Amino acid sequence: MLSSASKRICLSIRSRTLLPRTVTTYPAIFQQALFQSTLTNNAKQLADIDHGKIQIQRSENLKSLIPAKDLVFGRTFTDHMLEIEWNADQGWSDPIIKPYGKISLEPSAMVFHYSFECFEGLKAYKDKDGNIRLFRPDMNMKRFKKSAARLTLPDFNGEELLECLKKLIRLDERWIPAERGYSLYIRPSLIGTQESLGVGVTTRALLFIICSPVGPYYKTGFDAVRLLATTDKVRAWPGGTGDAKIGGNYAPCVLTQIEAAKRGYHQNLWLFGTDDEITEVGTMNCFVLLKNEQNEIELVTPPLNGTILAGVTRDSILSLARSWNEFKVSERKITMPEVVKAQEEGRLLEMFGAGTACIVSPIKEIHYHGRDLSIPLDPKNPSSNTGPVTKRFADVIVGIQYGEIPHKWSVIIP
Ligand SMILES: *Cc1c(COP(=O)(O)O)cnc(C)c1O
Repeated sequence: MLSSASKRICLSIRSRTLLPRTVTTYPAIFQQALFQSTLTNNAKQLADIDHGKIQIQRSENLKSLIPAKDLVFGRTFTDHMLEIEWNADQGWSDPIIKPYGKISLEPSAMVFHYSFECFEGLKAYKDKDGNIRLFRPDMNMKRFKKSAARLTLPDFNGEELLECLKKLIRLDERWIPAERGYSLYIRPSLIGTQESLGVGVTTRALLFIICSPVGPYYKTGFDAVRLLATTDKVRAWPGGTGDAKIGGNYAPCVLTQIEAAKRGYHQNLWLFGTDDEITEVGTMNCFVLLKNEQNEIELVTPPLNGTILAGVTRDSILSLARSWNEFKVSERKITMPEVVKAQEEGRLLEMFGAGTACIVSPIKEIHYHGRDLSIPLDPKNPSSNTGPVTKRFADVIVGIQYGEIPHKWSVIIP
């Protein structure tokens, strides 16, 4: 927290330097750095991202495509990448699309020491008419800005960045597999690059986007997962950074993932608090469909209270469910004891994880306090590997993503 004295200083810095109102506004902690740079720069306008200024350096050695069936998630990269540099004196430089390749940074760059890194994940799809489509990319841009602000990394115009992203996808279009279920995974990332071991605001940053062709998450129908409920570690906590897509949140989760795998589970279920609130499944949002104590069918997902990552898939599922208006839809706290009780009383209907990679991931079992709790899939079809409502969400979302169901969420890249 800033003391009231330092708040006054910040305010007076802001008014004295007359920061232009039209440029991107920066978090309060930035004002000091901006003050210093504007002293030498005399209120020079900081440039924002401008897709009209994009420079394209085409690769002269195009790689050979990998057969779609051999793709492993996140291992193959396309021919090009996008880079945009930022510094506190000039703002954003001209975007450059160039051959995919190494980034050269000094070992003192802040990203290597203090995890000044945030990222996004979205996909481009090729529909049956050959159009390239994105799914709700505006949501990813908004979330990217929010994650950057949490780390005092520079803000930017999300619409302009999206236009740059579209140019990159167009250029690397041949990498989007045409087969339904396949897509191009797009990874924007923003890092602090200032050479400094001091913990503070970075005065230099690099935004880059790389792309990777990916196969369907489920090669042969759905695969329901078995989860280990984690009771000795937490992913996120009130006032923490669980609601930001920042690199620092993910490395610490791998140990938990390995522990679950060693005990024969596919994933771990993150709980929080003394009453074992359900938060997320691995790196997915979590949904529970149950008949509640009032005998109503209710779809429940934890609320965006700061410990939950606001998934685009989560939002899409909530929005579809509300539009169907067939059952109650709640963003509310739900605990493991509530799920156990519903299961014991035959009221638990379905559970699933949700995220861009898989869309939905049906859950068939949760190990919690020494026992394996079995989660229903489809009682009418014992051989099914997914619940019917879970499957319906996946079918509708995939239909929208591939342009088979017309919807404003699907954006064609012209
Ligand atoms: C990215 C992510 C999700 C899913 O978000 P989508 O936008 O649906 O892909 C959920 N939880 C965590 C922790 C994530 O990092």
